[in-house]
Amino acid sequence: MASDPRRRVPRTDAVLADPRIAAAAVRLGKPLVKQAVTAAQQRVREGALPPDDVVDATLAALPRAATTLRPVLNATGVLLHTNLGRAPLGEAARDAIGVAAGTCDVELDLTTGARGPRGAGVVDALLAAVPGAGAAHVVNNGAAALALVAATLATGREIVVSRGELVEIGDGFRIPDLIESVGARLREVGTTNRTHLADYERAIGPDTAFVLKVHPSNFTVTGFTSAVGPAELAGLGVPVVVDIGSGLLAPHPLLPDEPDADGMLAAGAALVTASGDKLLGGPQAGLILGDAELVQRVRRFPLARAMRVDKLTLAALEATLRGPVPPVRSALDTPVAELRVRAEAIAARLAGLDVGVVDSQATVGGGGAPGVRLPSVALSLPEPCAAALRAGTPAVLGRLEGGRCLLDLRALAPADDETLAACVRAAGAGP
Ligand SMILES: *Cc1c(COP(=O)(O)O)cnc(C)c1O
Repeated sequence: MASDPRRRVPRTDAVLADPRIAAAAVRLGKPLVKQAVTAAQQRVREGALPPDDVVDATLAALPRAATTLRPVLNATGVLLHTNLGRAPLGEAARDAIGVAAGTCDVELDLTTGARGPRGAGVVDALLAAVPGAGAAHVVNNGAAALALVAATLATGREIVVSRGELVEIGDGFRIPDLIESVGARLREVGTTNRTHLADYERAIGPDTAFVLKVHPSNFTVTGFTSAVGPAELAGLGVPVVVDIGSGLLAPHPLLPDEPDADGMLAAGAALVTASGDKLLGGPQAGLILGDAELVQRVRRFPLARAMRVDKLTLAALEATLRGPVPPVRSALDTPVAELRVRAEAIAARLAGLDVGVVDSQATVGGGGAPGVRLPSVALSLPEPCAAALRAGTPAVLGRLEGGRCLLDLRALAPADDETLAACVRAAGAGP
């Protein structure tokens, strides 16, 4: 008589007692490991897994850490992919997070034992990188930086802004709504395509708190256009605040149209706001840089406490500023010939599979350098590979183009090439 297959399913306590499973439970917590055991047992019941393989299958299914977040290789050719968490942190920032993760002197002066200024190291690093700034303050993200500046300087007053700069950032959130939500009034001037100095002049009055420039970071308006720069606006006698978005602290030769913090301050802006996880290449954060007196007011405004960044962010941001070039910047600066060499090397390892090497165009994405096309190189695979690659470990996200799945190397760290090749092999890019 055939034995009931259910009888042959290894018992949960027996599997949990396996030394490798027990070690995993110490690292990841018992519920997560037990869940994986249960799933493996279920596959045995369904006849999809030999009973002797339950331990191995459980171990293979366990995540690297106790989070449902899964690592994804960014082969989209979009350097800053918002759905993938924008800028990947460099080693220096990851190490700094490790230091800060325990108890650390984030707000303590170790010489006196008294309370110290929070985030002093980041502020010093920012001021070194942006010599034109008298002071700096860090909040949770770029939107918070702008909201805090508006709340501090313009509650119940007016902010003058061009109709060409009323930007929707993404996910339905809009800069004008954000500003009005903190109790400032918007005074729109000019038109979508053209705004002149005289438009600003006419709008400025006793109620004006500041003139706002918002960098159109995710679209371009071309043709019959005209805008007024911060240098001209600075002559109007009210503070000029520039939301540069991308977080370039100094000019970048490949992105001549992308405003940088130091340049805007040199041109006469009183304050600049920016994101930490765009072209700066750091963690999610919002930067406020510029006039020392204004920054001090912003820092002491009550709402600032609700936007305070945590020690992990402070550590990662400081390391991004002080450490080696962060991954986003290396990716941006890599010569296309280097990408081609890497692509050919990966394709050579995958000989026999339907894998080609094609020219590609990458973008900065994530609210930076709209319209800029970065020459790139991609691996070209059969389209059905896309789903298999997303299901792999690590997952790989490419892009679909012309009936093929393209894996663009521009945003991918060279250190991940070998893993990418293994993922493509596992995804079965058959001929
Ligand atoms: C991205 C962006 C923001 C929002 O910054 P977050 O860091 O996403 O909050 C605001 N303004 C501009 C111009 C941007 O590009």
